[in-house]
Amino acid sequence: MGTLSIVATPIGNLEDITLRALRTLKECDVIYAEDTRVISKLLARYEIKKPLQRLDAATENKKTKEILERLEAGKHVVFVSDAGTPGISDPGARLVRAVREHSHILKNVGITIEAIPGASALTAALSIAGVDSTEFTFFGFLPHKKGRQTALKKIATSEIPVVLYESPHRILRLLKELETVEVSRVTIARELTKVHEEVVSGTPSELLAHFSSHPDTVRGEFVVIVTS
Ligand code: SAM
Repeated sequence: MGTLSIVATPIGNLEDITLRALRTLKECDVIYAEDTRVISKLLARYEIKKPLQRLDAATENKKTKEILERLEAGKHVVFVSDAGTPGISDPGARLVRAVREHSHILKNVGITIEAIPGASALTAALSIAGVDSTEFTFFGFLPHKKGRQTALKKIATSEIPVVLYESPHRILRLLKELETVEVSRVTIARELTKVHEEVVSGTPSELLAHFSSHPDTVRGEFVVIVTS
């Protein structure tokens, strides 16, 4: 029976890919990707040519069915998200659940689901933040509207660091909100593994002042670590 490999890909620097991930991409029968254009750059860099299929929210049901058929036919299927580890604030979890449930219904027909671990913005940020991450909470992206205030309160009262993902459009809004709920320290890891990688840390007010005086840095991708 088939194998579904969930492969982590780089979060910026294309060298951040494991030997096992490259071998898996070379050996598989087909790659399903959140966005085929993104994975194409990685495949071109490593001269890998494979059939590519898009699996996004719009095509998820149809493509999941197709993947199940391929796995039952003994094929080796890879799934990649746009960057980092699939399933971490990214598609992948529903596909894996569907394949697990399917194999269970068929009394474990021998479909293997394997993780090919690698980069994630979450672990990369924690590894250089200088924050005690013996324990931490990961909130992913905060809800934009409903539930946001509750999440902010939870962050402010958390006894362990809270890690968030944020987009450049909302990073200043988030810092202003963190200022009002009075958290003590915020560390922001921006553009990890890329040319403009930067880690800044301070109170929400200090970071707002930093970004106001360096508006060119309010762009890219952000991981935010809050300690109260
Ligand atoms: N699955 C990915 C992972 O394992 O890190 C996360 C995908 S999530 C859709 C994208 C968010 O991750 C970005 O908005 C940003 O918050 C964070 N992120 C991804 N790449 C990053 C990078 N190079 N530097 C900082 N944050 C990054």
